[in-house]
Amino acid sequence: MVKIFIDPGHGGTDPGATGNGLQEKALTLQIALALRTILTNEYEDVSLRMSRTSDQFVSLDDRADAANSWGADYFLSIHINAGGGTGFESYVYPGVGSPTTTYQSHIHGEVLKAADFADRGKKSANFLVLRETAMPALLTENGFIDTAADANKLKTASFIQSLARGHANGLAQAFNLKKKPSDSLYKVQIGAFKVKANADSLASSAKAKGFNAIVLLKDSLYKVQIGAFSSQNNADALVTKAKNAGFDAFIVQE
Ligand SMILES: [Zn+2]
Repeated sequence: MVKIFIDPGHGGTDPGATGNGLQEKALTLQIALALRTILTNEYEDVSLRMSRTSDQFVSLDDRADAANSWGADYFLSIHINAGGGTGFESYVYPGVGSPTTTYQSHIHGEVLKAADFADRGKKSANFLVLRETAMPALLTENGFIDTAADANKLKTASFIQSLARGHANGLAQAFNLKKKPSDSLYKVQIGAFKVKANADSLASSAKAKGFNAIVLLKDSLYKVQIGAFSSQNNADALVTKAKNAGFDAFIVQE
């Protein structure tokens, strides 16, 4: 069981950074709650606690103390930047080595894969929640609230979801979290045939273009499948890639 403590920055009387009609405390809570939902629904053997689950004030010391007394394996603090700039950056405590920096690399990389933000780099800083937590800890700064381009992204639910998805993917990598078995997968297919040879031929040309194609017999049809995902976003991404390569790709849910 991996114990992950999620810390949405600010809250209550402390709004954090503000700009473009947004408040940092609301965005950090949205990302953190979405992250908790993804991890709870999709992964096994992960235990989660949060420093707050609503709009309430929690001091920095109390956040670190809560994680320490719970005996968390990891502390993840989620923030939004301000001060004029653009993009994503992440922080560990200065001078820490692996595994903290390895975890940072996983999460930093996966957030940038999932969300369309410029990479401002993996950094270190003497932040209280990084210093006073007894376990490996990371603080992410998810865009600049006072930069219109970043704020416009943060205003959309799908972008908040992408940020949560990126953090979840990074945590899953860092801690080898196991996916729950899913009975409803998004399968990406590029064709279905009555004649097996036709399916084999399409599978060969897909393989030649780097796709991991397999032929499956279902409902008397030979179906050429190039991927199966529990996340629709990942399935969509593969459909786009396959279409760009000239295949008539589509998703089936079964
Ligand atoms: Zn903050």
